[in-house]
Amino acid sequence: MHCPFCRHPDSRVVDSRTTDDGCSIRRRRQCPDCSRRFTTVETASLMVIKRSGVTEPFSRDKVISGVRKACQGRPVTEDALAQLGQRVEEAVRATGSAELSTHDVGLAILGPLKELDLVAYLRFASVYQAFDSLEDFESAVAELREQRSTTDAGGPAGGLEVPAPAAAAD
Ligand SMILES: [Zn+2]
Repeated sequence: MHCPFCRHPDSRVVDSRTTDDGCSIRRRRQCPDCSRRFTTVETASLMVIKRSGVTEPFSRDKVISGVRKACQGRPVTEDALAQLGQRVEEAVRATGSAELSTHDVGLAILGPLKELDLVAYLRFASVYQAFDSLEDFESAVAELREQRSTTDAGGPAGGLEVPAPAAAAD
């Protein structure tokens, strides 16, 4: 790329390091002409196709802010949200495809969110899967109860104190 300061068409890499999550690499570059330094970030291209047909780069921050809304009033820490964001990004990148739909991203969120907080999971699923009746909620809750009774008795913190939809907004 061109030097952002003088538009010189070349630059020299002076330092290169992988980010902590391993999803990208940062390069410190120096312009051989004006000697100024700048940073570039390289990531595997991952685009999300929205329902409207508009394509935008995958954003972990958007995943986290969407999930944060569903977690309002729930005992979910920012750390846990950050970890969820990382897991979702790793999962969607692991598919190897360069393009995903918002639906694919939503699906990747549901699994980790279910482990994190069941109430937040139900809220998210209700919007994402467009629940439009009490029966939809009831069947989702029944499904969770069933999974819970067949897996473990201990389970994640919080238990299955799933409120009725009317109470979900607190
Ligand atoms: Zn320059």
